[in-house]
Amino acid sequence: MVDVPSKADVVIVGGGIIGVSVAYFLGRKGVQEVVLLERGMLGQGSTGKCAGGIRTQFSTPINVQFSLVSLQVFERFEELFGVDPEFHRVGYLFLASEESHWSQLLENERLLRSMGVGPEILSPEEMSRRWPFLVTEDLLGGSYSPRDGYAGPYEVLQGFARAARKLGVKVLEGVEVTGLRTSQGRVQGVELGDGRSISCRWVVNAAGPQASQVAAMAGLELPVKPYRRQLFFTDIFHHLPDEIPLTIDLASGWYMRREGKGLLLSGPQDSESSFNENVDFDSAEWTAERSLKRCPILEKARIVRGWAGLYEVSPDHHAIIGEFPELRGFLCVNGFSGHGFQHSPAAGIVAAELIVDGKATTIDVTPLAPTRFREGRLIHEPLTAIRD
Ligand SMILES: Cc1cc2nc3c(=O)[nH]c(=O)nc-3n(C[C@H](O)[C@H](O)[C@H](O)COP(=O)(O)OP(=O)(O)OC[C@H]3O[C@@H](n4cnc5c(N)ncnc54)[C@H](O)[C@@H]3O)c2cc1C
Repeated sequence: MVDVPSKADVVIVGGGIIGVSVAYFLGRKGVQEVVLLERGMLGQGSTGKCAGGIRTQFSTPINVQFSLVSLQVFERFEELFGVDPEFHRVGYLFLASEESHWSQLLENERLLRSMGVGPEILSPEEMSRRWPFLVTEDLLGGSYSPRDGYAGPYEVLQGFARAARKLGVKVLEGVEVTGLRTSQGRVQGVELGDGRSISCRWVVNAAGPQASQVAAMAGLELPVKPYRRQLFFTDIFHHLPDEIPLTIDLASGWYMRREGKGLLLSGPQDSESSFNENVDFDSAEWTAERSLKRCPILEKARIVRGWAGLYEVSPDHHAIIGEFPELRGFLCVNGFSGHGFQHSPAAGIVAAELIVDGKATTIDVTPLAPTRFREGRLIHEPLTAIRD
């Protein structure tokens, strides 16, 4: 049986990218007794299924801020953590064929420019010149951010976890949290599946797609829903350049990027919420159809494997970060809606600030409070690969 302390300052529920980032930044801030509990193995949830995309192109200032703060960590990751995060800065290319998406990209460009990270707005002709393998005739235009790209979720997860352990955080696998102990509107501890418990002042909900179940242990309603997303991989493919941007078709939510010498091609996202993580090879047809439409040379590609993971979706596609006023000490860091990997460094930083300083100063996260749904203060993010 895993050795578990009977008390701690902070217990983190979940050992995905968010849990290990929060653990690391709490350790960095000198919090002494931090315990991370993962019911299975680190990274077994959404993090292990993630495509690793990192981009600045979002449509709300708070999401762009999360990207910019996180980028500073990704850029120095090897120096800070001694692990190469395999950050490929191949750029992100959003393609718009519908009027609403095109005006969204133009609006975004204004926002991003005002924040110092303007993307290039490109005509179909210009895109065709730069990336002749793309079909662009049906497009209104595109938006390209050359310094974005993708990194290795496993490498980043291990980097955070190893550094957290060095700072004294207990990172424990195979320990499930089954209950929350509360008294007089404050967290008192967690109950474990094997009957043991840990008393603590803070519990961080970092349970990804299971976040609403963990909140329900305290009778709280957290609107995070799991949606299956599938990904497919081709074998070695020499008919495209070694470096291509991570390319997203906004109309369908289809995207592709290099995966080693092969390609990662996105599959569909389910429209019904569920915990189903089976790969449904019929969906490869969805992928093939959209791949051929946008990049006909992919006719020569062979899909050799696929996997499915869960997006952890909030109603407005923004993260949910903060406490409920009715339960102090229960910090939610959830609902990243398909961009939790790239925002994990900033999420860890602000969560540690909330716990240690009582306030997040790196980014004001009050708009992300869990109470915003019942108060009707939603902040919609349209620029995602999620299709509701
Ligand atoms: C196919 C796919 C592609 C994606 N692509 C991207 C991308 O390109 N860029 C990007 O930024 N994001 C992407 N994402 C989203 C990203 O993967 C998630 O936002 C991120 O991994 C969420 O991390 P997490 O730590 O919150 O959740 P998870 O990684 O799911 O971790 C939660 C952990 O909590 C554990 N847990 C749950 N309940 C309990 C309990 N009661 N006790 C103990 N442990 C518990 C689970 O076992 C799990 O390991 C993608 C997701 C999918 C599915």
